[in-house]
Amino acid sequence: MSAVPGITLNDGNVIPQLGFGVFQIDPDETAEATKRAFEIGYRHIDTAEMYQNEAGVGEAVRDSGLAREDLWITSKLNNGFHEPDAARRAFDGTLEALGLDHVDLFLIHWPLPTRYDGDFVSTWKVLEEFKADGRSRSIGVSNFQVAHLERLAQETGTVPAVNQIEVHPYLDNAEVRAYCREHGIAVEAWSPIAQGGVLKDDAIVSIAESVGKSPAQVTLRWHVQRGDIIFPKSVTPDRIRENYEIFDFELSDEQMQQITALDKGEQGRTGPNPDEFDYIPD
Ligand code: NDP
Repeated sequence: MSAVPGITLNDGNVIPQLGFGVFQIDPDETAEATKRAFEIGYRHIDTAEMYQNEAGVGEAVRDSGLAREDLWITSKLNNGFHEPDAARRAFDGTLEALGLDHVDLFLIHWPLPTRYDGDFVSTWKVLEEFKADGRSRSIGVSNFQVAHLERLAQETGTVPAVNQIEVHPYLDNAEVRAYCREHGIAVEAWSPIAQGGVLKDDAIVSIAESVGKSPAQVTLRWHVQRGDIIFPKSVTPDRIRENYEIFDFELSDEQMQQITALDKGEQGRTGPNPDEFDYIPD
Protein backbone atom coordinates (compact mmCIF):
# COMPACT_ATOMS: atom_id res chain seq x y z
CA MET A 1 0.00 0.00 0.00
CA SER A 2 1.23 3.47 -0.87
CA ALA A 3 2.47 5.65 1.95
CA VAL A 4 1.35 8.74 0.04
CA PRO A 5 -1.90 10.30 1.33
CA GLY A 6 -4.67 11.24 -1.08
CA ILE A 7 -6.28 14.68 -1.31
CA THR A 8 -9.97 14.69 -2.20
CA LEU A 9 -10.68 17.33 -4.85
CA ASN A 10 -13.91 19.36 -5.12
CA ASP A 11 -15.19 16.94 -7.80
CA GLY A 12 -14.68 13.89 -5.56
CA ASN A 13 -11.58 12.54 -7.29
CA VAL A 14 -8.63 11.66 -5.05
CA ILE A 15 -5.14 12.81 -6.12
CA PRO A 16 -1.92 11.49 -4.51
CA GLN A 17 -0.44 14.40 -2.53
CA LEU A 18 3.08 13.59 -3.73
CA GLY A 19 3.91 13.10 -7.39
CA PHE A 20 6.86 13.31 -9.78
CA GLY A 21 7.38 16.42 -11.95
CA VAL A 22 9.06 16.09 -15.34
CA PHE A 23 9.67 19.75 -16.31
CA GLN A 24 13.13 20.14 -17.91
CA ILE A 25 13.67 16.40 -18.21
CA ASP A 26 15.07 15.65 -21.65
CA PRO A 27 12.41 13.92 -23.80
CA ASP A 28 14.87 11.05 -24.36
CA GLU A 29 15.37 10.57 -20.61
CA THR A 30 11.78 11.01 -19.47
CA ALA A 31 10.64 7.40 -19.83
CA GLU A 32 13.59 6.12 -17.78
CA ALA A 33 13.20 8.71 -15.01
CA THR A 34 9.44 8.14 -14.82
CA LYS A 35 9.90 4.36 -14.68
CA ARG A 36 12.31 4.81 -11.81
CA ALA A 37 9.77 6.96 -10.01
CA PHE A 38 7.11 4.26 -10.49
CA GLU A 39 9.51 1.61 -9.10
CA ILE A 40 10.06 3.70 -5.99
CA GLY A 41 6.31 4.08 -5.46
CA TYR A 42 5.24 7.36 -7.09
CA ARG A 43 1.85 7.01 -8.80
CA HIS A 44 1.28 10.64 -9.85
CA ILE A 45 3.13 12.29 -12.77
CA ASP A 46 2.98 15.98 -13.70
CA THR A 47 3.80 16.75 -17.35
CA ALA A 48 2.74 19.35 -19.93
CA GLU A 49 2.64 19.76 -23.67
CA MET A 50 5.17 22.58 -23.18
CA TYR A 51 7.72 20.12 -21.71
CA GLN A 52 7.69 18.06 -24.95
CA ASN A 53 8.00 14.84 -22.99
CA GLU A 54 4.43 13.54 -22.75
CA ALA A 55 5.45 10.62 -25.03
CA GLY A 56 8.12 9.53 -22.53
CA VAL A 57 5.56 9.58 -19.70
CA GLY A 58 3.20 7.47 -21.83
CA GLU A 59 5.97 4.98 -22.56
CA ALA A 60 6.71 4.63 -18.85
CA VAL A 61 3.02 4.10 -18.08
CA ARG A 62 2.79 1.31 -20.66
CA ASP A 63 6.04 -0.35 -19.55
CA SER A 64 5.28 -0.10 -15.85
CA GLY A 65 2.73 -2.92 -15.82
CA LEU A 66 0.74 -0.82 -13.33
CA ALA A 67 -3.02 -0.61 -13.63
CA ARG A 68 -4.11 2.65 -15.25
CA GLU A 69 -6.63 3.30 -12.47
CA ASP A 70 -3.78 3.24 -9.93
CA LEU A 71 -2.02 6.13 -11.69
CA TRP A 72 -2.69 9.87 -11.74
CA ILE A 73 -1.48 11.62 -14.91
CA THR A 74 -1.67 15.41 -15.25
CA SER A 75 -0.93 17.44 -18.38
CA LYS A 76 -1.45 21.05 -19.41
CA LEU A 77 -2.64 23.13 -22.36
CA ASN A 78 0.24 24.97 -24.00
CA ASN A 79 0.13 28.75 -24.35
CA GLY A 80 -0.38 28.86 -28.12
CA PHE A 81 -3.69 27.02 -27.93
CA HIS A 82 -6.13 29.09 -25.89
CA GLU A 83 -8.66 29.56 -28.68
CA PRO A 84 -11.41 26.90 -28.41
CA ASP A 85 -10.70 24.89 -31.56
CA ALA A 86 -6.96 25.06 -30.97
CA ALA A 87 -7.51 23.85 -27.39
CA ARG A 88 -9.58 20.90 -28.64
CA ARG A 89 -6.86 19.94 -31.13
CA ALA A 90 -4.11 20.38 -28.54
CA PHE A 91 -5.91 18.12 -26.08
CA ASP A 92 -6.30 15.44 -28.77
CA GLY A 93 -2.54 15.80 -29.32
CA THR A 94 -1.80 15.39 -25.61
CA LEU A 95 -3.79 12.14 -25.41
CA GLU A 96 -2.12 10.90 -28.58
CA ALA A 97 1.39 11.72 -27.32
CA LEU A 98 0.66 10.02 -24.01
CA GLY A 99 -0.97 7.08 -25.77
CA LEU A 100 -3.86 7.24 -23.30
CA ASP A 101 -7.61 7.54 -23.70
CA HIS A 102 -7.89 9.92 -20.75
CA VAL A 103 -5.84 11.98 -18.32
CA ASP A 104 -6.67 12.43 -14.66
CA LEU A 105 -6.16 16.18 -14.67
CA PHE A 106 -5.82 18.76 -17.43
CA LEU A 107 -4.85 22.36 -16.70
CA ILE A 108 -4.70 25.69 -18.49
CA HIS A 109 -0.93 26.16 -18.08
CA TRP A 110 -0.90 29.99 -17.88
CA PRO A 111 -3.75 32.55 -17.86
CA LEU A 112 -2.03 34.87 -20.40
CA PRO A 113 -4.13 37.90 -19.40
CA THR A 114 -2.37 40.06 -22.00
CA ARG A 115 -3.05 37.64 -24.91
CA TYR A 116 -6.22 36.56 -26.68
CA ASP A 117 -7.96 39.69 -25.28
CA GLY A 118 -7.43 38.11 -21.87
CA ASP A 119 -10.05 35.50 -22.73
CA PHE A 120 -9.19 32.43 -20.71
CA VAL A 121 -12.92 31.99 -19.98
CA SER A 122 -13.75 30.42 -23.34
CA THR A 123 -10.64 28.24 -22.93
CA TRP A 124 -11.94 27.07 -19.55
CA LYS A 125 -15.31 26.21 -21.12
CA VAL A 126 -13.49 23.88 -23.53
CA LEU A 127 -11.85 22.12 -20.58
CA GLU A 128 -15.38 21.64 -19.18
CA GLU A 129 -16.13 19.65 -22.37
CA PHE A 130 -13.16 17.34 -21.68
CA LYS A 131 -14.44 16.73 -18.15
CA ALA A 132 -17.99 16.09 -19.43
CA ASP A 133 -16.86 13.55 -22.03
CA GLY A 134 -14.63 11.76 -19.50
CA ARG A 135 -11.34 12.37 -21.28
CA SER A 136 -10.10 14.41 -18.31
CA ARG A 137 -11.37 13.13 -14.98
CA SER A 138 -10.63 16.48 -13.32
CA ILE A 139 -9.88 19.94 -14.74
CA GLY A 140 -8.04 22.87 -13.27
CA VAL A 141 -5.82 25.86 -13.87
CA SER A 142 -2.22 26.86 -13.31
CA ASN A 143 -0.66 30.20 -12.46
CA PHE A 144 -4.06 31.82 -11.93
CA GLN A 145 -4.08 34.89 -9.70
CA VAL A 146 -7.05 35.81 -7.49
CA ALA A 147 -8.51 38.15 -10.14
CA HIS A 148 -8.40 35.35 -12.71
CA LEU A 149 -10.11 32.90 -10.38
CA GLU A 150 -12.79 35.47 -9.52
CA ARG A 151 -13.48 35.99 -13.18
CA LEU A 152 -13.98 32.26 -13.73
CA ALA A 153 -16.33 32.20 -10.73
CA GLN A 154 -18.39 35.07 -12.16
CA GLU A 155 -18.52 33.90 -15.77
CA THR A 156 -18.69 30.10 -15.55
CA GLY A 157 -20.59 27.49 -13.56
CA THR A 158 -17.65 25.40 -12.42
CA VAL A 159 -14.80 25.82 -9.95
CA PRO A 160 -11.34 24.50 -10.95
CA ALA A 161 -10.35 21.40 -8.99
CA VAL A 162 -6.79 22.70 -8.56
CA ASN A 163 -4.65 25.78 -9.10
CA GLN A 164 -1.00 24.89 -9.73
CA ILE A 165 1.14 27.87 -8.62
CA GLU A 166 4.70 28.64 -7.57
CA VAL A 167 5.01 28.02 -3.83
CA HIS A 168 8.09 27.30 -1.71
CA PRO A 169 9.63 28.73 1.46
CA TYR A 170 10.79 31.89 -0.36
CA LEU A 171 7.42 32.49 -2.08
CA ASP A 172 4.48 31.75 0.18
CA ASN A 173 1.92 33.04 -2.37
CA ALA A 174 -0.34 33.51 0.66
CA GLU A 175 -3.11 35.52 -0.99
CA VAL A 176 -3.71 33.02 -3.81
CA ARG A 177 -3.43 30.07 -1.40
CA ALA A 178 -5.98 31.65 0.96
CA TYR A 179 -8.43 32.30 -1.90
CA CYS A 180 -8.08 28.70 -3.06
CA ARG A 181 -8.60 27.34 0.44
CA GLU A 182 -11.75 29.44 0.90
CA HIS A 183 -13.19 28.31 -2.43
CA GLY A 184 -12.39 24.59 -2.29
CA ILE A 185 -9.60 24.71 -4.89
CA ALA A 186 -6.65 22.44 -4.05
CA VAL A 187 -3.23 24.08 -4.29
CA GLU A 188 -0.47 22.36 -6.25
CA ALA A 189 2.89 23.93 -5.32
CA TRP A 190 5.28 24.02 -8.26
CA SER A 191 9.07 24.27 -7.84
CA PRO A 192 8.54 23.07 -4.25
CA ILE A 193 12.25 23.33 -3.41
CA ALA A 194 12.69 26.44 -5.64
CA GLN A 195 14.74 24.29 -8.03
CA GLY A 196 17.19 23.68 -5.19
CA GLY A 197 17.35 27.37 -4.22
CA VAL A 198 16.17 26.90 -0.62
CA LEU A 199 18.32 23.90 0.26
CA LYS A 200 21.26 25.87 1.68
CA ASP A 201 19.08 28.15 3.78
CA ASP A 202 20.44 28.23 7.37
CA ALA A 203 17.03 27.71 8.98
CA ILE A 204 16.18 24.75 6.74
CA VAL A 205 19.65 23.19 7.17
CA SER A 206 19.40 23.53 10.93
CA ILE A 207 15.92 21.95 11.09
CA ALA A 208 17.14 19.16 8.80
CA GLU A 209 20.02 18.43 11.19
CA SER A 210 17.71 18.35 14.18
CA VAL A 211 15.20 15.91 12.63
CA GLY A 212 17.84 13.78 10.87
CA LYS A 213 16.47 14.40 7.36
CA SER A 214 17.81 16.28 4.31
CA PRO A 215 16.93 19.93 3.56
CA ALA A 216 14.88 18.76 0.55
CA GLN A 217 12.90 16.31 2.71
CA VAL A 218 12.23 18.98 5.34
CA THR A 219 11.03 21.44 2.69
CA LEU A 220 8.78 18.87 1.01
CA ARG A 221 7.41 17.82 4.42
CA TRP A 222 6.55 21.49 5.15
CA HIS A 223 4.41 21.58 2.00
CA VAL A 224 2.70 18.30 2.88
CA GLN A 225 1.81 19.48 6.40
CA ARG A 226 0.30 22.65 4.88
CA GLY A 227 -1.96 20.43 2.76
CA ASP A 228 -0.55 21.35 -0.65
CA ILE A 229 0.09 18.86 -3.46
CA ILE A 230 3.71 18.60 -4.67
CA PHE A 231 5.70 16.88 -7.44
CA PRO A 232 9.44 17.54 -7.09
CA LYS A 233 11.52 16.88 -10.19
CA SER A 234 14.79 14.97 -10.27
CA VAL A 235 16.72 12.87 -12.74
CA THR A 236 19.01 11.62 -9.97
CA PRO A 237 17.97 8.18 -8.67
CA ASP A 238 18.98 8.81 -5.05
CA ARG A 239 17.10 12.11 -4.99
CA ILE A 240 13.95 10.59 -6.55
CA ARG A 241 13.96 8.15 -3.62
CA GLU A 242 14.88 10.79 -1.03
CA ASN A 243 11.99 13.01 -2.12
CA TYR A 244 9.57 10.10 -1.67
CA GLU A 245 10.65 9.38 1.91
CA ILE A 246 8.83 12.21 3.65
CA PHE A 247 5.98 10.42 5.40
CA ASP A 248 7.89 8.93 8.35
CA PHE A 249 8.56 12.13 10.30
CA GLU A 250 6.77 15.30 11.36
CA LEU A 251 7.77 18.93 11.79
CA SER A 252 6.70 20.71 14.97
CA ASP A 253 4.49 23.83 14.83
CA GLU A 254 7.57 25.90 15.64
CA GLN A 255 9.62 24.35 12.82
CA MET A 256 6.72 24.88 10.43
CA GLN A 257 6.53 28.55 11.43
CA GLN A 258 10.30 29.02 11.07
CA ILE A 259 10.09 27.84 7.46
CA THR A 260 6.96 29.87 6.67
CA ALA A 261 8.77 32.97 8.02
CA LEU A 262 11.37 32.67 5.21
CA ASP A 263 8.86 34.14 2.71
CA LYS A 264 10.41 36.94 0.63
CA GLY A 265 7.18 37.92 -1.13
CA GLU A 266 7.49 38.82 -4.82
CA GLN A 267 11.30 38.87 -4.50
CA GLY A 268 11.22 35.17 -3.78
CA ARG A 269 9.57 34.33 -7.09
CA THR A 270 11.87 32.24 -9.31
CA GLY A 271 9.53 31.91 -12.30
CA PRO A 272 7.60 34.51 -14.29
CA ASN A 273 4.84 36.67 -12.82
CA PRO A 274 1.53 35.29 -14.17
CA ASP A 275 0.10 38.79 -14.63
CA GLU A 276 2.83 39.59 -17.15
CA PHE A 277 3.91 36.27 -18.64
CA ASP A 278 2.95 36.09 -22.33
CA TYR A 279 5.36 33.55 -23.82
CA ILE A 280 4.10 31.51 -26.75
CA PRO A 281 6.47 28.78 -27.99
CA ASP A 282 7.32 28.74 -31.73
P1 NDP B 1 11.91 21.58 -8.12
O1 NDP B 1 11.67 22.57 -7.03
O2 NDP B 1 11.21 20.28 -8.07
O3 NDP B 1 13.50 21.34 -8.17
C1 NDP B 1 14.12 20.53 -9.15
C2 NDP B 1 15.63 20.76 -9.06
O4 NDP B 1 16.10 20.41 -7.76
C3 NDP B 1 16.42 19.94 -10.04
O5 NDP B 1 17.53 20.73 -10.43
C4 NDP B 1 16.87 18.74 -9.24
O6 NDP B 1 18.12 18.28 -9.74
C5 NDP B 1 17.03 19.33 -7.85
N1 NDP B 1 16.67 18.38 -6.79
C6 NDP B 1 15.57 17.58 -6.74
N2 NDP B 1 15.54 16.86 -5.61
C7 NDP B 1 16.64 17.20 -4.91
C8 NDP B 1 17.18 16.78 -3.67
N3 NDP B 1 16.56 15.86 -2.92
N4 NDP B 1 18.34 17.34 -3.25
C9 NDP B 1 18.97 18.27 -4.00
N5 NDP B 1 18.51 18.72 -5.19
C10 NDP B 1 17.37 18.17 -5.65
O7 NDP B 1 11.66 22.34 -9.51
P2 NDP B 1 10.71 22.21 -10.76
O8 NDP B 1 10.71 23.55 -11.38
O9 NDP B 1 11.06 21.06 -11.62
O10 NDP B 1 9.25 21.97 -10.16
C11 NDP B 1 8.68 20.69 -9.94
C12 NDP B 1 7.57 20.43 -10.93
O11 NDP B 1 6.58 21.45 -10.86
C13 NDP B 1 8.01 20.46 -12.40
O12 NDP B 1 8.75 19.31 -12.77
C14 NDP B 1 6.68 20.61 -13.08
O13 NDP B 1 5.99 19.36 -13.08
C15 NDP B 1 5.98 21.60 -12.15
N6 NDP B 1 6.15 23.00 -12.62
C16 NDP B 1 5.04 23.64 -13.10
C17 NDP B 1 5.09 24.93 -13.55
C18 NDP B 1 3.86 25.59 -14.05
O14 NDP B 1 3.95 26.68 -14.63
N7 NDP B 1 2.70 25.01 -13.88
C19 NDP B 1 6.37 25.68 -13.57
C20 NDP B 1 7.49 24.95 -13.02
C21 NDP B 1 7.34 23.67 -12.54
P3 NDP B 1 18.36 16.90 -10.54
O15 NDP B 1 17.20 16.69 -11.48
O16 NDP B 1 19.65 17.15 -11.26
O17 NDP B 1 18.47 15.81 -9.52
